[in-house]
Amino acid sequence: MSGPVPLAPWAAHEEHSRGRCHPQPPHPYRGEFQRDRDRIIHSTAFRRLVYKTQVFINHEEGDLYRTRLTHSLEVAQVVRTAARALALNEQLAEAIALAHDLGHTPFGHAGQDALNACMQPWGGFEHNLQSLRVVDELERKYAAFPGLNLCWETREGILKHCSRRDALQLGSLGRRFLERRQPGLEAQLVNLCDEIAYNHHDIDDGLRSGLIAERELAEVGLFGEHYDAVCAIFPGLSGRVRIHETVRRMIDTVVGDLVVTTRERVAGSAPDSIDAVREAGRPLAAFSPAMAARHQELKRFLRERLYYHPQVRERTERAQCMLTAVFERFMEAPDLMPAEHAARAIGATGEAADVSRARAVADYVAGMTDRYALSTYRRLVDPRAEL
Ligand code: MG
Repeated sequence: MSGPVPLAPWAAHEEHSRGRCHPQPPHPYRGEFQRDRDRIIHSTAFRRLVYKTQVFINHEEGDLYRTRLTHSLEVAQVVRTAARALALNEQLAEAIALAHDLGHTPFGHAGQDALNACMQPWGGFEHNLQSLRVVDELERKYAAFPGLNLCWETREGILKHCSRRDALQLGSLGRRFLERRQPGLEAQLVNLCDEIAYNHHDIDDGLRSGLIAERELAEVGLFGEHYDAVCAIFPGLSGRVRIHETVRRMIDTVVGDLVVTTRERVAGSAPDSIDAVREAGRPLAAFSPAMAARHQELKRFLRERLYYHPQVRERTERAQCMLTAVFERFMEAPDLMPAEHAARAIGATGEAADVSRARAVADYVAGMTDRYALSTYRRLVDPRAEL
């Protein structure tokens, strides 16, 4: 397929965008969602993703593992294909995908859990909500406003889930969580393409690390079926190519299922606009029930054998202790942080002072890369610490 595909009536149309918080004149040759994508790529938080872990495997042993940056690019690539096939807004889908993990802490999910535990007295920490904070407030690129001033639809897509308490504070963006409505289809697709990307690259990274074995994975339906086919068609293929050939076929099958199923559900619900998609009562982007079950089986396998592998857990626990110690040290002595963060932590007075201090520390710690968090721990706590 080549050339521009006309957008479906239920896609996100730029001319019907709910706009930006701070109105800006249109650009002479770039569309609004394209501008959002460009702002995200130029953000500091995006660049830091290169040194943030996805799954917490010991990546000092090799440069070949995924990071949050390559993960975000893979999600963007998968979702662009699906969005285009469905005549949805490819640029919006890409922008959401590139931004979806901007709020992630160092040390993968281990870091998120540690920071959330530290922040319990002050409203908790949630990486998805933090992604929105990054684009709405924390990036400082413009003289006239904080954040990146992204379009409403991009922000809608970034916010995947949200507690009732947080939703109440988010104005029009939070309302869908209170009223149980869906986001637009581009956002729904990014959500599922995120799963597709991490399931498949975690297989690849997991096998590369030696923590899981091909023969174990061959027992899992989705992998096993393609693996057996590849072994039958290409007997004697070398290990790495055999895995790539299998994973490539898996991704193609899963994305194909997503496109076909979503197309059927859209046809069944016959929305006439993006608002009708939001009101549809259920997500219109979906895997078929059979594929959803196989995807679940794969996720379960990865959780049990990879994410909870003793070697991964050991590092996870060390990382959590480190991040907790760093958080506590900055809470006691906020002036140890760089001036702008210290000013936010110390500046607030009165009843809200504690909350502001904790949030300023959490924002600073969450923004750290893995290696920066480790070097901070060494500087503040134990110069000889190893992960
Ligand atoms: Mg992700």
